[in-house]
Amino acid sequence: MRCPETDNQELLVAYGAGRLGSRETAKLEAHLAECEACRVACAAQATVWKALDGWEAEPLASDFDARLLARIASEEQPGWRRRWREWLRAVAARPAVPAFAALFMVVAGFWLLPRGAPPEPRADAALVREIEIIEATLDDLEMVKELSGGDRGEGARSL
Ligand SMILES: [Zn+2]
Repeated sequence: MRCPETDNQELLVAYGAGRLGSRETAKLEAHLAECEACRVACAAQATVWKALDGWEAEPLASDFDARLLARIASEEQPGWRRRWREWLRAVAARPAVPAFAALFMVVAGFWLLPRGAPPEPRADAALVREIEIIEATLDDLEMVKELSGGDRGEGARSL
């Protein structure tokens, strides 16, 4: 018999699980009597089988199935942010994209530049507005003078 430890470990597993027929078991036990490596492997398997026999699984929570299904559903339908990030990652992974993005920025920059004559400086616009306010105030003063009677003099002048 060729050594199952190096050649056929499934045979050692089947022996440990008690699935070998009587002829195969006899042949393997004859080999075990003269092979240290196979005896060590069988002893290790026996330890594992004993531990498995003594192990008891924790009872599942009553809502385990419902929570598991909800979790699976949430994993299968990612939020729009995750989908957007995945799309961006996929697009950014293409080598031409950074070059196109840079070209787009340059073109958009030129397109957004002001065309034609530059607008009047803001200080001039503020000055014009101030002049309009002063003119309106002078008109109002003139109207007050007229309404209060020009000959009363001092009251109107003190405004
Ligand atoms: Zn062996």
